[in-house]
Amino acid sequence: MEKTNLWTKLNHADAMSFCDKYIDYLNASKTERLAVKSAETLALEAGFKPFEKFTELNPGDKVYFKNRGKNIVLAVIGSDDITCGTAIVAAHIDSPRLDLKPSPLYEDSNMTLFKTHYYGGIKKYQWTAIPLSLIGVVIKTDGTCVEVNIGENPQDPVFTVTDLLPHLAQEQMVKKMNEAFTGEDLNVLIGSIPTDCEKDKYKQTILDILKEKYDISEEDFASAELEIVPQFKAASVGIDRSMVGSYGQDDRVCAYTALKAILETDLPKRTAVCFLADKEEIGSMGNTGMKSRFFENFLAELIYKIKDEYNDLYLRRTLSASMCLSSDVSAAVDPNYKSVNEPMNSSYFGQGISICKYTGARGKSSTSDANAEFVGLIRKILDENNIDWQMCELGRVDLGGGGTVAQYIANLDVDTIDVGVGLLSMHAPFEIASKADIYSAYMAYKAFYAYKG
Ligand code: MN
Ligand code: MN
Repeated sequence: MEKTNLWTKLNHADAMSFCDKYIDYLNASKTERLAVKSAETLALEAGFKPFEKFTELNPGDKVYFKNRGKNIVLAVIGSDDITCGTAIVAAHIDSPRLDLKPSPLYEDSNMTLFKTHYYGGIKKYQWTAIPLSLIGVVIKTDGTCVEVNIGENPQDPVFTVTDLLPHLAQEQMVKKMNEAFTGEDLNVLIGSIPTDCEKDKYKQTILDILKEKYDISEEDFASAELEIVPQFKAASVGIDRSMVGSYGQDDRVCAYTALKAILETDLPKRTAVCFLADKEEIGSMGNTGMKSRFFENFLAELIYKIKDEYNDLYLRRTLSASMCLSSDVSAAVDPNYKSVNEPMNSSYFGQGISICKYTGARGKSSTSDANAEFVGLIRKILDENNIDWQMCELGRVDLGGGGTVAQYIANLDVDTIDVGVGLLSMHAPFEIASKADIYSAYMAYKAFYAYKG
């Protein structure tokens, strides 16, 4: 079906200024913990309050819950009884990266390095020979949380994973890509000055600096979550500035647009919920991931403060009557790699929010295939609000595939469908999205929250 390009009808200034703020958000939110902090700051500015501050919840109240600093959920209480169902937009705020191992520090050939274990699906070669930052927390045995952020400030040093020079890469160049770069090769260069110690003289320099600057010892790495992420900043891309390039747009592009939409929602009919999950990139496991009971526990707490009583049927009815946009990126058609897409069912830049009825792999395995009735309702909401949308699949049949949080929410008896922004270079250190599509996602989430049906 021929679709017109959004840029021909969009107010360009609206999309551009929206994305200027989005770029600021990306730069401040390179880890899931920082993304939670950014979301909390924006929520407080918009009049949201932490759940503990409410003794009861009434229509129009704006509330948020944090889950262990890595997952946050916001809600605006609707005018309908909550058991008539909520409108949920769920995105994730974790992104592929290199995590430090619990014992990361070693020295070799007059240099000091960190060993890493990559997180999520990466093409390992993309993480070599680029500047990297180190961001995260170290928890000491007395419970103190030491925040580490090296590389993001213009005065900071940066880090890198080295790569082999082409002159000596004859053997490397003929290897298969997944064999040429192994997980154990992704060691991060962090120092090269020796001390006069007998043993570990290069390591000791780093340990001395860490002790002085952060008061942490080598053993403290055991209880740390330290992430190596690309150091470069998000930026407008193109001579026409029509795109955004950044690390972590999967899925912070949907997190930010969903967040902006709920922050601007006042007294909806259905209670509006924006869920920003951690751990999507590694299968949504764990108590900050979408598979956690945290989501149900949050709804149960909400119901209790709205109704001043609780029974399990309220929760079950709320879930059963709820609807959800599982808001995650899709793979847009890339002019350099067109063969991986089936052109009639693909996401194109500038054609609005992408709707995936299903994701999965090998014959729709491991996906929630949205009910046609629900797809029809979403089309109606978008059409009534003049929001451009396109249907897509994640690439050609049997070429690969992927999943999102949709299936875990759908399994709770919630009508769920994947919608999101098409990306190029997904999971690379610098991912590209169209500003028109980003703006269209924001408009779509606003319309979804405002739906009166
Ligand atoms: Mn994603
Ligand atoms: Mn992903």
